Amino acid sequence: MSAQHYTKVLIIGSGPAGYTAAIYAARANLEPILVSGDKPGGQLTITTDVENYPGFADPIQGPWLMDQMKAQAENVGTKIVSAMIKDVDFSARPFKAVADNGDVFEAETVVISTGATARWLGTEGEEKYRGFGVSACATCDGFFYRNREVAVIGGGNSAVEEALFLTNFASKVTLIHRRDELRAERIMQERLFAHEKVEVIWDSVVEEFVGEQPEGMPMPGLTGLKIRNVKDNNVSELKVDGAFVAIGHDPATSVFKGHLEMDDEGYILSAPNSTATNIAGVYAAGDVTDKIYRQAVTAAGMGCMAALEADKFIAEHGVSKKKTEAAAA
Ligand code: NDP
Repeated sequence: MSAQHYTKVLIIGSGPAGYTAAIYAARANLEPILVSGDKPGGQLTITTDVENYPGFADPIQGPWLMDQMKAQAENVGTKIVSAMIKDVDFSARPFKAVADNGDVFEAETVVISTGATARWLGTEGEEKYRGFGVSACATCDGFFYRNREVAVIGGGNSAVEEALFLTNFASKVTLIHRRDELRAERIMQERLFAHEKVEVIWDSVVEEFVGEQPEGMPMPGLTGLKIRNVKDNNVSELKVDGAFVAIGHDPATSVFKGHLEMDDEGYILSAPNSTATNIAGVYAAGDVTDKIYRQAVTAAGMGCMAALEADKFIAEHGVSKKKTEAAAA
């Protein structure tokens, strides 16, 4: 049966940004409700080893980290609702959100932390070797490729940035791009072309991620890529130990279109040094607004900022519902 909810802080999304916002809001006695979405835990639930989230001396598992964040948010008093928000109304306070299960949420403030998803090529072997040689995050996984050969697929700022970052570890980095010019900023291109470890393969697409089961290892690992030149259709094989797909991300913002200001790629716009959106009382935190850093720890930092800003907003503006109305909801 569908339910009516009322809260001072409604948090939409359950990645590091959402859980951190929840932890801070709950500890500020704001009694937050977090709606967890259809991929609870977000992008970290599809990663394996995490070595760059501070506080853990040894590698931890992404799904475990998210379970801990969820438990921490609940332990300090967050109510978690397992549902997907399908519609919102930010025209007046209390703001409204409706979930796919029919639940209706009224909220004095809203923190949007619905994240983004990496785009994948969808070619053969990509899914099979994801986490076993295929990645969409060099910052997360580059460290594992010390003195190995890797490839980066894409031609935008992310691809070039990832390729340059990978030169810190890998013995060779091959950038594979489907056209004969990069989309990335000129200065980034110059840095890439000048780097001795980098080679660029132009006009080419990955047709297959190839791997094998190494002796004594429980899982197969990536060993190379089948690459097709789009101009002459020649297929060649490139031996690599790792492949980084960097062809863009899609922020999960379709439900907020027309309700909040976004850039032309669908990222929610926020004020400088703030998580405030163009609607007072609505905040955006994490990958849904950040296309530069995209890290769990930066998302968590933004979640913290959003909760502190929501708290300040309520302190300054009060609540729109009388206590008796709120109790009845
Ligand atoms: P972009 O959309 O800018 O670039 C995606 C790249 O992937 C393009 O070169 C595109 O090729 C290629 N591509 C897309 N689909 C496929 C496919 N199916 N097969 C092969 N190649 C494909 O995404 P980014 O993630 O690089 O950047 C997103 C935004 O974030 C941009 O605005 C960027 O400027 C910004 N950004 C800024 C950074 C910074 O300032 N430090 C760092 C990272 C990102 P094609 O060129 O042919 O379309």
